[in-house]
Amino acid sequence: MNCIFCKIVAGEIPAKKVHEDEEFLAFHDIRPAAPVHLLVIPKRHVPSLADVQPGDEAMLGRLMALVPRLAHENGLEGGFKTAINTGRDGGQEVDHLHIHILGGRR
Ligand code: 5GP
Ligand code: ZN
Repeated sequence: MNCIFCKIVAGEIPAKKVHEDEEFLAFHDIRPAAPVHLLVIPKRHVPSLADVQPGDEAMLGRLMALVPRLAHENGLEGGFKTAINTGRDGGQEVDHLHIHILGGRR
């Protein structure tokens, strides 16, 4: 499959990883829009939030619960923004579900 984030999961493309477990991977965005800009993805290829199926609720809950933990581990004590871009009109460029975490002093 020609998915850049699946290639990162497979280790075929390098990334600055900050977290990896059986289900999720988090790494620095290659074009950071804030002092700290992380992306959190499920390892399984889910194209977007619009493609979430019944049965994905628990995965989404674990994904969302991972966000504040990663924010803390990456020094975002002053807070952070999260974003999920979905679909063409939602500004999604990479068609593999991901949460942006943006923060750091500005
Ligand atoms: P989207 O617009 O789909 O929500 O965001 C995709 C994000 O992925 C963008 O912020 C972009 O900079 C980032 N990105 C695209 N290709 C790569 C890559 O190969 N490595 C990393 N680390 N980030 C990428
Ligand atoms: Zn993928």
